[in-house]
Amino acid sequence: MAEFSIIERFCSNLGVQHGDTNLTIGDDAAVITVPKGMELAISADTMVEGVHFFPNMDPALLAHKILAVNLSDMAAMGAEPKWATLALTLPQIDEAWLSDFSSSINRVATAYNVQIIGGDTTQGPLNLCLNIMGVLPAGQRLTRAGANLNDELYVSNNLGDAALALAGIKGELEITDDELTSLKIALETPVPQVTLGQSLLKVATSCLDVSDGLLADLAHIAKQSDVSFEVDVEKLPLSQEYQKYVAQGGDFDLALTGGDDYQLAFTVSPESQADIQQLSTKLNTPLTKIGKVVEAKSDSIVAFLDGKPYAVKREGYEHFSS
Ligand code: ADP
Ligand code: MG
Repeated sequence: MAEFSIIERFCSNLGVQHGDTNLTIGDDAAVITVPKGMELAISADTMVEGVHFFPNMDPALLAHKILAVNLSDMAAMGAEPKWATLALTLPQIDEAWLSDFSSSINRVATAYNVQIIGGDTTQGPLNLCLNIMGVLPAGQRLTRAGANLNDELYVSNNLGDAALALAGIKGELEITDDELTSLKIALETPVPQVTLGQSLLKVATSCLDVSDGLLADLAHIAKQSDVSFEVDVEKLPLSQEYQKYVAQGGDFDLALTGGDDYQLAFTVSPESQADIQQLSTKLNTPLTKIGKVVEAKSDSIVAFLDGKPYAVKREGYEHFSS
């Protein structure tokens, strides 16, 4: 099948149709109108076979994840996702694969009100690159640079499940099949915290999504805000499966340094704590206070377990590290 008919069959009309999309797939570029009073937030994320996912991964899950990780970046900025382009590098044309992939992109894009307005299709080792665009009220955004001394540190939902699933899949620890099935949901189909991000626009002083491990990601806020963090390890929100792992002698390292959580970590001033409780109830999303912002120190993040410093044995995930 020729490149163009692949695009027509599997890449066109995916997601919703926005009125402010002036030109979509079919030309050399799409054309959009940024709504009056809004600014564009733009981000991209790539997933490479063998690096970000195992070979022969279910295409529907891959489609979900490439959108979810990009939506998570929009969430972290407080932006409302609207458009995306999708660059696909495929080893061969497998119609069944493309059909499942395409239906899943359509489903997730529709659920998050996103329109796929273009992309690229080439042959080579499997690689998915999605470029996402969202809108922000002019002048408003969540950044990594606004954390202030004495702010409280919060995180959404649970941490560590994706890393625990990965360790289970690799056979590095013993997990029952039932537990692995439930943990794999966090790894394979993360839920981007888009509504939460938008709701935090006027409340949070800094925000990011936890993708490389809590401690590694907090270091970005610490650096850009010129502060340090104290994290209370016993307050980390953990799933039942993770709690069981701890009860059986496991530690907190996966929750502190494992990647792929896609939860939001954010800071708020101490006066905003009641707002956060209300938001948690309204969105039916657990928001847990896990620490606070302290003065900048050489060691930008210090974790405590029951009042004593907690040393992690592993670091967050970093590409190009030796
Ligand atoms: P060009 O050769 O100018 O890069 P293409 O022939 O690759 O253009 O693409 C034709 C149209 O199809 C463009 O509008 C492009 O954005 C769109 N397109 C190509 N691949 C994809 C894809 N994987 N998903 C969505 N749209 C795509
Ligand atoms: Mg062209």
